[in-house]
Amino acid sequence: MTGERNGESYIAQLPQSSRQTQMYPKLTPAQLSRLEAHGDKLATHAGQVLTEPGERHPMYVVLSGSVEVVQVSLRGEVLVALHESGSFSGEVSTLRGVGAPVRMRVREAGAVLVIAETRLRAIVQTDPELSEIFLRAYILRRTRLIESQSGDAVLLGSTHSADTLRLQQFLTRNTFPFVNLELDSDPSVRELLERFHVKVEDLPVVLCRGTVVLKSPSNEEVAACLGMNQQIDGGRVRDLIVVGAGPAGLAAAVYAASEGLEVLVLETGTPGGQAGSSSKIENYLGFPMGISGLALAARALIQAQKFGAEVRTAHSALRLRCERQPYAIESAYGQVVSAKTIIVATGAEYRQLALPNESRFLGAGLYHAATSTEARRCGSSEVIVVGGGNSAGQAAVFLAETCRHVHLLFRSQRLAASMSQYLIRRIAETTNITVHLTTEIQSLDGNDHLERVTWKTARRDPESRDIGHVFLMTGAVPSTNWLGGRIALNEGGFIRTGSDLEAEDLLPRSRAPEFLETNVPGIFAVGDVRSGSVKRVAAAVGEGSACVQQVHRVLDA
Ligand SMILES: Cc1cc2nc3c(=O)[nH]c(=O)nc-3n(C[C@H](O)[C@H](O)[C@H](O)COP(=O)(O)OP(=O)(O)OC[C@H]3O[C@@H](n4cnc5c(N)ncnc54)[C@H](O)[C@@H]3O)c2cc1C
Repeated sequence: MTGERNGESYIAQLPQSSRQTQMYPKLTPAQLSRLEAHGDKLATHAGQVLTEPGERHPMYVVLSGSVEVVQVSLRGEVLVALHESGSFSGEVSTLRGVGAPVRMRVREAGAVLVIAETRLRAIVQTDPELSEIFLRAYILRRTRLIESQSGDAVLLGSTHSADTLRLQQFLTRNTFPFVNLELDSDPSVRELLERFHVKVEDLPVVLCRGTVVLKSPSNEEVAACLGMNQQIDGGRVRDLIVVGAGPAGLAAAVYAASEGLEVLVLETGTPGGQAGSSSKIENYLGFPMGISGLALAARALIQAQKFGAEVRTAHSALRLRCERQPYAIESAYGQVVSAKTIIVATGAEYRQLALPNESRFLGAGLYHAATSTEARRCGSSEVIVVGGGNSAGQAAVFLAETCRHVHLLFRSQRLAASMSQYLIRRIAETTNITVHLTTEIQSLDGNDHLERVTWKTARRDPESRDIGHVFLMTGAVPSTNWLGGRIALNEGGFIRTGSDLEAEDLLPRSRAPEFLETNVPGIFAVGDVRSGSVKRVAAAVGEGSACVQQVHRVLDA
């Protein structure tokens, strides 16, 4: 979270001493006695391992003796914290009910209070004082693990590899602490490759806990190996399945779970959606200094899980079955999950340039996001941003902080129609940004990595430059293919809801659809995927939260 240059200002601003106290607070006798009713006492002996990395774990409140927390790195164990009497273990994975990134072991014999994950969730929902202490400590501890750039997940990759970037984005956006080593700049990578009998051609490689070697793994394989997801209980019919964990889906999950509904969230990639790829969102209410998409998503995710929403990342919805109720979704790993209602919040995917060799350079010089992960790859070189919307404007301003020069290419004649005035002004004031209007990319050239770009401006000859980094911020198309034609869409592929539905879309039904309801009763659509929605974070969050009231009406009918 704090890895973002423009990110988690609250944490960055905390003085070191107060940050340490908030990260490892001591509970008062009154707080300890409130907790007693929620846990079981366990006598401990020195050397006893309470949790191994990757294991689901309860919270341990130390009553006497001590418990050490260590990170298992390739160089052995690194002490992260020592919990003594009155202190408690855990970090965000404890609340999420997923694998721990650390080992917890008793140093001095004594006793701990063992508080199971469900009890812990009940405490944070009902005891505001303890909730604030636990959540703040958990977020700060996870942030410290990320900052320490150590951990039991090591990514060995190359700056020229698209798959390396994919895995960096996946781990970073899941706020999972990992060590990032690149062949091009770190001599230790070759030693590690030899030690683990891996060839350069196998890169990227993820080493899990120093024992499991994953060669060029998918996001799903990494998530499974690192214990990021719990098993899904496919036998249960939930009140609601939310598909997509962008701002709209996360808002729906927070409101639905906080109002007592049983909610499962499925997310193809990582929480945050398009917003998660924004370096700095400045127009979202309540964040006058702006907030990175990553920080916003991380906060929303922990909020949803605090209320008990089950969230599965790297877990796609592949097909909707809505012929009968309860509705079912075929998801990744051949699982089928069912629910009485569904909210589709699958947003949109990035539009391509439609150049023949474009896919070859995706992640190897062509990017659809401009966060610090991508910016690191550009160093101080000259870069291109394509697009005329706010996402392009933000990317140009952000990249201009570190890149020598930013060329902003836009195919229309004016930025004012599509970009906010504050960004247009900021671009005009930034001397190392040049705006090229009525300009389009004509060709991309390079071998393994993008090396040269040719663009064409109206009524001028094409211009070629040795530029290896292009950011495509050219809008998006709705993610609706997985719906299999059962949900009514408009001509652009966006989902019709409420009064936007045509008479022929509607199935025989006894009532008019709710404002955010699709042609299938009990199936809703919110955020960017919905026809007529305002493509903004605040609008997506508003629709996701408002939709829950309509879900209640369907469930109560
Ligand atoms: C770089 C960038 C910067 C932006 N900056 C701003 C800004 O400053 N201010 C602003 O107001 N707006 C901004 N926007 C727009 C804003 O991010 C979007 O309007 C908002 O994210 C839409 O939210 P959503 O939840 O509807 O969809 P999305 O954010 O698109 O999220 C949809 C989620 O669904 C998941 N998904 C898709 N298909 C499936 C499937 N089959 N199964 C499971 N999961 C699936 C996707 O992986 C994704 O995580 C920006 C957009 C971009 C790209």
